Amino acid sequence: MPLTLGITKELPEPANSERLRILIGASVYTEHVGFASAAIYSSRATDSKQKGRCMGGTVFLMYHEIEAPGRELMRKEPGYVRYVVREQDFRAQMGGLEEAAWKGMSVGEAVGFGPQKGVGITFDDGCETDRMVAADLLSRLGFGATFYVTVGFLGKAGRLKVQQLRELDSLGFEIGCHSMTHAYLTDLGEADLRRETGEAKAKLEDLLGRRIEHFSCPGGRYDQRVIEQVKEAGYSTMCNSRSHSNQPTTSIYALGRVPVLRETTLSSFQRSCRGQGLWAAQLGAALRNGGKQVLGNAAYDKMRQMMLRNR
Ligand SMILES: [Zn+2]
Repeated sequence: MPLTLGITKELPEPANSERLRILIGASVYTEHVGFASAAIYSSRATDSKQKGRCMGGTVFLMYHEIEAPGRELMRKEPGYVRYVVREQDFRAQMGGLEEAAWKGMSVGEAVGFGPQKGVGITFDDGCETDRMVAADLLSRLGFGATFYVTVGFLGKAGRLKVQQLRELDSLGFEIGCHSMTHAYLTDLGEADLRRETGEAKAKLEDLLGRRIEHFSCPGGRYDQRVIEQVKEAGYSTMCNSRSHSNQPTTSIYALGRVPVLRETTLSSFQRSCRGQGLWAAQLGAALRNGGKQVLGNAAYDKMRQMMLRNR
């Protein structure tokens, strides 16, 4: 980590290809160490004052596919698999929350910022394990959650079928929209942006016969133009992927979420739920954003895949 900091401090402007390579390397490195180093570093001064109590605000968790025994993952590349949490880990995480008398909440519930200790629980992309694995456990615990669905993925291999989506809805879970095609919204022109937000919302509302209020942006990419479009499409909130807890003062169109990763240990999970040790994930995100801005989304993704493969 200190090495990473040193490198970025020295980097004034996108100067030459070697510097770009170092920046992306640092980003991927930081992304990879993520929570592990958060646990080590934040156990020092930063958190000692806050031990044993909630820092205020509410943490929203971000899940993707869950790995169930005997079921093949949708994709195998390391950059994808690091976002796939094993079923046993997911059970331990939810069980830990219940033991601590914390509640799992949907986004709609969590933005009410009531007195109950709890976390927002969200799933992106609409993988079939939302219904096959997560829903039953969450229901048993009495936890709410928001399932953000990529509308154009419905019915594809490994994804939620419309019937399963309706089951999630009937079980009382909140269904949100995660765009039509999972395009990075900051790359799009007006017409495509409207399709990914407004048309996707209308399609989902058609399928479920209810209003869809909540949106999360693919790849966490957003800017002011995206926020304006999401508002115009009629959503009440938007979640991104920035690792901070949300306060009543946080803009409801810039709600942060903490990714739960395959490598996230139970203790770092529990610290994250209390809003502790999030700064290392924030640093990693800042570096990644730097890389994305310098290279553009597509080139950044290509470079990231290559570097994670070569680890
Ligand atoms: Zn996504």
